[in-house]
Amino acid sequence: MEATIQDRIRGCAVGAAVGDALGMPLEFGPRQPADRLVRDMKPGRLPSGTLTDDTEMALALAESLLECQPLDPSDLSSRFLEWFRLGPHDVGIHTRDVLTRIELGQPWQRAVEAVQRQKPELAGNGSAMRCWPVALVHWDDLAWLVTDSRQQSRVTHGHPECEAACGFINAMIYHLLRGTAPALAVDRALLLVDMPEALRATIQAAPTRQREQLKNSGWVRHTVESAVWGLLTTQSFEEAVVQVVNLGDDTDSAGAVVGALAGATYGLGAVPERWQQAVRGEWPVRSGTYWRLADLVELADRLAAL
Ligand SMILES: [Mg+2]
Repeated sequence: MEATIQDRIRGCAVGAAVGDALGMPLEFGPRQPADRLVRDMKPGRLPSGTLTDDTEMALALAESLLECQPLDPSDLSSRFLEWFRLGPHDVGIHTRDVLTRIELGQPWQRAVEAVQRQKPELAGNGSAMRCWPVALVHWDDLAWLVTDSRQQSRVTHGHPECEAACGFINAMIYHLLRGTAPALAVDRALLLVDMPEALRATIQAAPTRQREQLKNSGWVRHTVESAVWGLLTTQSFEEAVVQVVNLGDDTDSAGAVVGALAGATYGLGAVPERWQQAVRGEWPVRSGTYWRLADLVELADRLAAL
């Protein structure tokens, strides 16, 4: 593997975790004033630099992929349930509803269908925020990359926009890892991934939006919009992530997605040293063991080596 691709693969994993941790203290808050953007890790509900459910679920997905390829939805569902039972600090509402049903004995497919039936229009970002490990494991196989990106969504989020968003994000990562310019990576991913027309239109318009127009809610359409906007309207890893985590509301999830994209674009070497050193996460949750930079780098290497 050539060095630049390896650095980008590592950048994708570390970038997602860094974006999550940087967004953590700003989650559900207001949009920050443009002249006072937060640029450093800060404590929130968790200590400074701590990653949240976005990265934790990605780690569960990564560990499932290291055991099972192609992706085995039953194995993944079991790992999400195991994580849920350990008592993570954050669990998204939709994910909590699904995992609670599974904990009570429903097969995962029935649980996902039942939750979606209650709120048919609901298309949260809970599967998009964690999808990047599929892009690393299939970094050299685009067909499996798209198939497994959608499949990992269906384990909790079966809405067509959720599935399509995961396929799109990871197809972008595929092209970015090869040095494709971000705007071209968007075009190629849009050509490759079938998606509802409204999601496609939102993605195409994203780079023309003003920051005041971006809602950045937990709706997957908003998260993808923010992430594409952040990547296409900036020139560095730091600026892409800073712009997105300062949009308010679902800052950590949008931060994780833009972090994965920007990390795949600029590589680990472009992730600010102060953020690399600060990022930490208890994994498994409540275990007393903390993951840091080296663990994320090692995971990225293991995923991509398969
Ligand atoms: Mg979170």
